[in-house]
This record gives sequence, structure tokens and C-alpha cells, in this order.
Amino acid sequence: MERPMSTPLIRRRLRVSGIVQGVGFRPFVYGLAVDTRLAGFVGNDTDGVFIEIESEAATLDAFVAALEASGPPAARIQRIDSEDIQPVGDTSFRIVASHYAETGTALVSPDLRTCDDCLRELHDPEDRRYRYPFINCTNCGPRFTITERTPYDRPNTTMQPFEMCYACSAEYREPTDRRFHAQPNACSECGPSVRAIPPAGDPIADARRRIAAGEVVAIKGLGGFHLACDAASDPAVALLRERKGRVEKPFAVMVSNLEIARSISLIDADEARLLTSRERPIVLLAKRANTAVSELVAPGNGYLGVMLPYTPLHDLLIEPGDVWVMTSGNLSEEPIVTTNIEAIVRLGVLADGYLVHDRDIHVPCDDSVVRILDGAEYPIRRSRGYAPFPVPLPFESPPILATGGELKATFCLAAGYDGFMSQHIGDMENLETLDAFTRAVDHFIDLFRIEPEVIATDLHPGYLSTKWAERQSLPVVKVQHHHAHIASVMAEHGVRDSVIGFSFDGTGYGTDGTIWGGEVLVAGYEGFERVGHLKATPLPGGDAAVKSPAKMALSYLHTAGIPWSADLPPVSALPETERAVLTTQLDRGINTVPTTSMGRLFDAVSAIAGVRQSVTYEAQAAIEFEALIDRSEGGAYTFAITERDGLLVIDPSPALRSLADDVVAGEAVGVIGARFHRGIANVIVETAERVRMRTGLTTVGLSGGVFQNVTLTHATRTALVERDFEVLLHRLVPPNDGGLALGQAVIAAARR
Ligand SMILES: [Zn+2]
Ligand SMILES: [Zn+2]
Repeated sequence: MERPMSTPLIRRRLRVSGIVQGVGFRPFVYGLAVDTRLAGFVGNDTDGVFIEIESEAATLDAFVAALEASGPPAARIQRIDSEDIQPVGDTSFRIVASHYAETGTALVSPDLRTCDDCLRELHDPEDRRYRYPFINCTNCGPRFTITERTPYDRPNTTMQPFEMCYACSAEYREPTDRRFHAQPNACSECGPSVRAIPPAGDPIADARRRIAAGEVVAIKGLGGFHLACDAASDPAVALLRERKGRVEKPFAVMVSNLEIARSISLIDADEARLLTSRERPIVLLAKRANTAVSELVAPGNGYLGVMLPYTPLHDLLIEPGDVWVMTSGNLSEEPIVTTNIEAIVRLGVLADGYLVHDRDIHVPCDDSVVRILDGAEYPIRRSRGYAPFPVPLPFESPPILATGGELKATFCLAAGYDGFMSQHIGDMENLETLDAFTRAVDHFIDLFRIEPEVIATDLHPGYLSTKWAERQSLPVVKVQHHHAHIASVMAEHGVRDSVIGFSFDGTGYGTDGTIWGGEVLVAGYEGFERVGHLKATPLPGGDAAVKSPAKMALSYLHTAGIPWSADLPPVSALPETERAVLTTQLDRGINTVPTTSMGRLFDAVSAIAGVRQSVTYEAQAAIEFEALIDRSEGGAYTFAITERDGLLVIDPSPALRSLADDVVAGEAVGVIGARFHRGIANVIVETAERVRMRTGLTTVGLSGGVFQNVTLTHATRTALVERDFEVLLHRLVPPNDGGLALGQAVIAAARR
């Protein structure tokens, strides 16, 4: 083409990093280049996408601006680097072959929910993929869970055994097609298929028939098996609970669309956006009263976990009007089952039938759980749809592996400015979970080509993850649990200076060997000072007390000098013989360990208020207590703060006295709940004020499992903001131990 002499040609080399492979990035760039009429090429390599473009400066600038501003829907651009080079006189734009080296860190995309184009084709009787359960394109479909190795190319995924038919390979090779280089591209002629066990003519109809009949069906999905049953049927849900040995812990449900979700839960605009997002997590939503959903799905809980279909198979299975329990296919807290054989062996006692398929799941990946707090995402479990997208680190890190803690385990593989947080692994209390952890670590090291030089782990000598770290032949950095929580929320926000951290959870190993959990820290990345804590109380019988809020209640009443009156529910709940043993234990300090755990205080208060005397899952007492809160009550119990040798001690005794009086006087539990929650928020603010006076620090970080309680977190944040504190809440990783590894990684990095 002719160009005026006055506008010289420039050639620019661009390097795009982020999630730019397997998401239709090259066809997008190709289309953009053709539209803006510039010459050059685009290709994939181990670090991402490389582009060279040649035209006048203004055209090149417009191209780069358009690339930054838009991009294909599933791409996530982290950075575009550019340099100008010698023009070579290209006259057209091409997609060139991929270059792969042994090193490099091209990101692997999380799995993506079915896109609208694919859904349209799925339901179009004229389309060649009509009702094909594995339809996908460059904008959607499986990614992380099928990736065995990088680069992300079909032979490196579990799609390798399926040879594309003529029609599919034509799409795959056509640069302007939505399926250009869509690695999992397939159709019913050439791709994976579903089948029922025991065999049935139409496997999808068979699964629907079984569920309608009240049976439990094991369904192979994207990151593992689900156990599904009719959530509207009490007997079906009871059957699943009985078989799974899961007494009361809530189940999540799947419904076909947003409208049905609205009929069973209250959904605001932010929650609707999250439910329909490409990540498609389970969203915790306020339950509606008197719906079709069985009370047994989430008993005593104010919230219901709801998700929408995220694979074409789900879309075909779940029809409007259906509400299905979809819970991870596993026994109690073991890792999720992923293979057909394993499902038959391990889920045999749980399921009446199976719906399986022959596309292997390479990476087990549970559903994510997210909620909305104050208008933004608040993660509870960061897994499918999010992992393995990295969390940006606040400073450059050497290669580090952080093992996380024990419950809700995840790990973090960090290097440079990327913190690759793993998917949810499970509770590291058994060898199955430890095996899953080891496999996932090896996979991450291989995938991101990061060889850790250091391992960061929890201070707790008894954790399986700590013991595992010590068996590796690498230097180990031990990180105090509550420090890791605060560092985690700091890292998310890119904070560099110290903060006032409230690290409230159930349990964590303290530097003095006692059980911490109600900690006030002045924390940076390198270190922390414990400037305050909840007043210590004996944990009678050690961990056994965790299952018995009634015992915790009696211990707290004892510490506060409040008599064990028979009018108080935990007193009457325990037989006299047990109370006698407890009295001896507490008076003489036998078989007790002191704890400053805030989680245990919530347990105790829930028991005193008459909500829960014993629990069957973690945090149950606090969850059911929160569910009963009367939102119209404005009162608050008063906590004392005492100061000894500069250490602030939060003493709940006055609050417990008022609370016990309210209980005896027959005050409503919702009122008591409101007063207690606001009391905790107030004492956090008052403590923060004292630390601010002493240190001048004005930023407060809230972390730890107790802050999964959104009533408490919202009240605390609001009160702190009113007093001009800047408040850091978790937005990328969970406040519970699922976010611990990020904190461990940045602490270890800062100490190098
Ligand atoms: Zn699609
Ligand atoms: Zn095909």
C-alpha cells in the first residue's frame, strides 16, 4: 500500500503475559490487526504471546490501546511490554507457529463456564453439537483440570486420546473460527461421551429419573465427582447425609438459572453478577423462608450455597424447576474423587447410580465458595474457576513453596511477583489428603517451572504439612499462624507498611506453645509484635472441647466467676458427673491448656444463649448463632480491656455476665446475638484506638476464620471506618486457613 513520505514506518515488538493461551487470543489479535490494517505476526511461546506489528506510529498506538482495553472474554492480560525495532517491510498479518523453550511461565487458565455461543449451539437442533455434553470453544470449557503439562497444547492435556474428526480439525485450523486452536475441541463424532453405570439408553435421562425417584447419583464433572440428589426431598437429602456421614454441615445446590436461584434465596445485583460470572462459584446467599428446598440441606443456617450450571453437561442435566444438592464426591473430608474406577470403589456405598464420562480429570478441583460482603467478593474457598490464576505479590519473591496449614489446606508456589495459590486440597488430617497435596505440589512445580529454594510452613509441630516440609531437603521457614493470616491480607492489598492486625480464629500454635486465636498484632512481613489478645481460658480436655461448646461455656463462666446456674442451657445440658469432672479439671488445671481462641468464645456464647451444646462440624455453633440475630436490636455487651506490661487483654467477663443475666431473664436469643456481635466489633475498635495512640498506625487488617462471620465483619469494618481507620478485608483469598499459604510465602520472601 502507498504511504505518504512524511509518516515513517515503525515496527514494534510486543510481549503479552497473563492468561493469553487457550482463550482465543491469537485470532483476536489477528482480527484486530486486519481491522487496523497493519502488518506483522502473532504467536505463542512459553512466556505468553509475542506480536510484531508494523505501520505508522499512530496506528500502532491505536492497536496497543485496543488490545489493552478489550481482548477476548476469557483472557486476562497481566502486562504488555513493547520495544521498537527495525521495520522489515511486512505487507500482511499472519499467525505463526508456537515457540516453546524449557523455561518460561505462561499462565494456565482456570476452567471457564460454558459461553453463551456454545449454549446457543447446545440447544439448537440444527447445530452439529446439539445436546453434546462436551461442547466448548476458545472462550469456554475445561482448562486447568485437563492440563497435564505446559505448554497448553492438546497432546499435553487429557484430550490427547481423542483424535479430531474432519469437521473439528477444520475449525481448529481456521484462524477466524471461534474454535481456532481450542485444545479441548470435540464433537459427538470424535470427542468424549457420557455413559450411565449401570448402563442405560439415555444416560442423562437416566440420571434425571434416578434423582426424581429420590436416589443419589454420582456425576462426573469438571474437577471431580459430585453426589447429586433432589434438594426438595427430605428423604433424599436425609439419605445422602446418612450415607456420607455428614450430619448437619450444609450442602450446596445447583439450579438451572438466576430466576430459580431468586426463588430460593435473596440476591442483590452484586450477588447476581457473581452467580453468573465466568468463575461460577457457589455463592452464599441469604435463604428465603418456606421454599421448596428441604430444611435438611443447610439446617440452622441463615445462608444457602447456590451455583448455576458451569458445564454443558450440567446444563443438560438440570432443568428449570430442579433444585439439586451437588456436593463434592468424597467421604467426609477426603479429597474429591476424580476417576471412574475410584468413584466405583469409594463412592459405591454412597451412590445408587453413576453418570460418568471418558475425558480424564488430571487435576482434582472442588467448587469455589464465595460471598458478597459490602459490595465486593469475599472468598470462602478459592478453587475451581480461580486456581491457578496467581495472586500478585507486593514485592519480588525468590522461589518459595508455602505449605499452608492443616484445615482447608491450600499451598502457594511463589516466584517473582506471582503467588500461585493452589486449588482447595482438603483437611490435611489423613494420608489421602497428604497424597493429594504432594501430587498437586509436583504438578504446580512442573506447570510453572518454579523450583522452590525455601519451604515456608506453620509453626505447629503436629501438622502433617509441617512434618512434610521438614522431610524435604530444603531450608524451612516456620511462620506463626496468626502472623501468616495478617500478612496474607496485607499482601492481597499490596500494603508495604506495618498494620494493626486482628487475627481471630479457632486455633493456631502460638510462639509460647499455647493455643492462640484471639490475637492483636502489630505486623509487617518480616515480623510481628503481639500487642494484645483475648483473655486466656482453659480448654478442658484439649481438642475434645472443640466439639463441645457446652464445656467451653462452663470454662468461660468459671474464668469469669459466674456461677453455673441450672438456668443456663450449657449447665443443664451436661450431666452432673461430667460437671464434677470439669470442676476438678478447671480448679486444678488438670488436662487443660490455656487458649485465647476467639472461635471458642463464640462456641461458648452460642451454648450459653441456648443455641448449640455440641457440634458436628467446625464453626457450627457460631454459624447457627449468627443466623438467629435480630437485626433490629441496637444494643451491645461491654468487654473490658486491661493492660499489663504493655499487653492489651480483652476480657469478656462483663459481657458474659450481662449475657447470662439476659438468658436467665428470658431475653430472645436474636437480641442476645446482636448484642454480642456488636460488643465484639466495639472492643475491636477500642483496641485498635489504643494501638493507634501508641504506634500511629492507622491501617487495620482483619483475618482468620472468625471473620467469615459477615455480620461481625461488616459491623467491625463500619465502626472502624467511622473512626478513620483504613480497613483491609480479604478479597482474593479466604480469611480462613485456605488463605494462610499466601501469608507464609510473603513472610518467607521478606525474611530472605
Ligand atoms: Zn464456548
Ligand atoms: Zn469432531
